[in-house]
Amino acid sequence: MKRWPIHILIAFLVFLPACRLAPAVSPAPTSSPQPATAATSTALPEATASPVAQVTGTPTTAAPALFDIDPADRSVFLSGLTSSAREAAELPGAPVYHMAFTLDESLTALNGRQTVTYTNLEDVELSEIYFHLHPVTLEGAIAVSDVTVNGAPVAAETTDAILRVPLPAPLMPGQTTTIDMTFDTTIPIDIGRNYGVLAYHDDILALAHFYPMLAVFDDEGWNITAPDIQGDLTYSDAAFYLVRVTAPDDVVLVGTGSIIEESRAEGTQTVTFATGPARDFYLAAGDFVETSRTVGETTIRSYAPAALADGAAAALDVAAAALSSLSERVAPYPYTELDIVTTPTSALGIEYPGLIVGTLNMYDMGAETAGGTPYSAILESTTAHEVGHQWFYNLVGNDQLDEPWLDESLASYSTYRYFVDQYGQTVGDSYFETFYGRWDRAGRENIPVGMPVANYQDAEYGAIVYGRGTIFVRELEEAMGREAFDAFLRDYVRTFTWEEGTTEEFRALAEANCECDLGPLFSKWIYK
Ligand SMILES: [Zn+2]
Repeated sequence: MKRWPIHILIAFLVFLPACRLAPAVSPAPTSSPQPATAATSTALPEATASPVAQVTGTPTTAAPALFDIDPADRSVFLSGLTSSAREAAELPGAPVYHMAFTLDESLTALNGRQTVTYTNLEDVELSEIYFHLHPVTLEGAIAVSDVTVNGAPVAAETTDAILRVPLPAPLMPGQTTTIDMTFDTTIPIDIGRNYGVLAYHDDILALAHFYPMLAVFDDEGWNITAPDIQGDLTYSDAAFYLVRVTAPDDVVLVGTGSIIEESRAEGTQTVTFATGPARDFYLAAGDFVETSRTVGETTIRSYAPAALADGAAAALDVAAAALSSLSERVAPYPYTELDIVTTPTSALGIEYPGLIVGTLNMYDMGAETAGGTPYSAILESTTAHEVGHQWFYNLVGNDQLDEPWLDESLASYSTYRYFVDQYGQTVGDSYFETFYGRWDRAGRENIPVGMPVANYQDAEYGAIVYGRGTIFVRELEEAMGREAFDAFLRDYVRTFTWEEGTTEEFRALAEANCECDLGPLFSKWIYK
């Protein structure tokens, strides 16, 4: 058992890392010039612009397939799944994205095409399908064109950050349709919006949510509410992604999933990634060096600029330990790869499927925050938190807009258990005090944990969802007993793997496990 230096314990009391929360430092000033593409006519209407625009469709015959692989053929995804997760390649009716895009020289724009195979898993017929256009929300731009359904042009419409694709005929339950479209995305060059998840900044490209992304249809119908940008933007079904990226050949591409093919020619590289089931596809690009390690069937690859290689190595150590810990205690990690990459994000860390991001500043192993906290300590808790999201967000999904506590509080609780596993209960308890520190930012008020992101004002979101929410999860653990709680968490993950859990389902399963009434506990902490 490793010992934890006392000064770092004290540091925990003043600085709680969490993804998409407090910036590690003030965002670096932007010195880059505005790209020529920043405000061209390719931009879709902003929220203040005319609300509805018709997407132009060129009436042509069906475009040739992007890949010589039938979307129903899932075998290409098998190599990315560990032996215990291999049956997930058969996930019935999951959407399949076949996508190809080209990044321009400046890494600030891309053009692409995607073919999405969508099966109606609902018990009602569907007359339309919706996609999110997150680059609009992220102050970039995305223009969609040439939308076809089963090869026939349709008059798709955009409204703010939503694309509506009308179906020529209703899609009956169990039926499958194919939606094809091209898209041009403009990438911001500052990190001021939603922590810079979509930005080219400090010579590093962070490419999140850059493509038209299927909305979720659930018991509320199509979920197309505009996200609140202080939280995670996405709520998505687990899907399969086969993605071919063409980019300048002087950057290292780090993407969700496994590389199944790569080639180089005339200053460009073409790399094909395959992943799934997964809830998104993410790509980072930069002048990175790589360090890696294999844990069980999973290779963990950690990327950073050469000057920050020590940070990349430290992140690799933490991720390996956290992955082992969660795999043993909760459920096996499903993929054969986990990537860690640093970007200039103004969050400390951000989770994506099979890939976690940590901010550049905390990779500087010798440095401290203005408050005297070693960045190495922040890197450790942040990395452990983001690894926790591989179980809570990706493996088990949830509505990150309406019930963000379900992934954030559980990822933070996982971080606490990581410290217990690594250093013992006493150190874990010291680390746990940081969650009270976080709650203090909302004056320790009994604001409910279970509200949508948009219902929290400013600092309340972090204070309640990350602070009070994590304290609730430990209260639940203590009410049930650690052994029963761990069994429940395994049951929760097993039950909702590649599906989405809700607060009520979480509670019902916990009550079934403990054979007790948890109503009073949920009323005290979770409900309004
Ligand atoms: Zn998080």
